[in-house]
Amino acid sequence: MIIWRIRRVRRPRRKLAETEETEALRREARKVLPVRLAELAAEHGFEYNQVRIKHNVSNWGSCSSKGNINLNLNLMRLPEHLRDYVMLHELCHLRHLDHGPAFQALLASLCPDHRECRRALREYKLI
Ligand SMILES: [Zn+2]
Repeated sequence: MIIWRIRRVRRPRRKLAETEETEALRREARKVLPVRLAELAAEHGFEYNQVRIKHNVSNWGSCSSKGNINLNLNLMRLPEHLRDYVMLHELCHLRHLDHGPAFQALLASLCPDHRECRRALREYKLI
């Protein structure tokens, strides 16, 4: 049996134009997101290394194996509960770097409506 696998084409990282809107989002994001992430981490007993505000079209947030969390400035365009969901998702990656059952169980315990949040997030485009 031959299994055809479609290889994911790695696109060159697109350099995003900084507009007045994204500059404003960045300023807000720097004020708001690190504070909220620290609150959520303290509330649920997570420890991360650094948090950075990023501007890209590939993800809302990310977490590295070194415990560094990146948050997209576009999070400022989301309702607060979806913003929290993304941050909780990244915090859960501090314990589980994949999206396996242990990760899902942890996320569900912190954010019971995480599936609805994930669905709602698709309505928003990264700019
Ligand atoms: Zn993830």
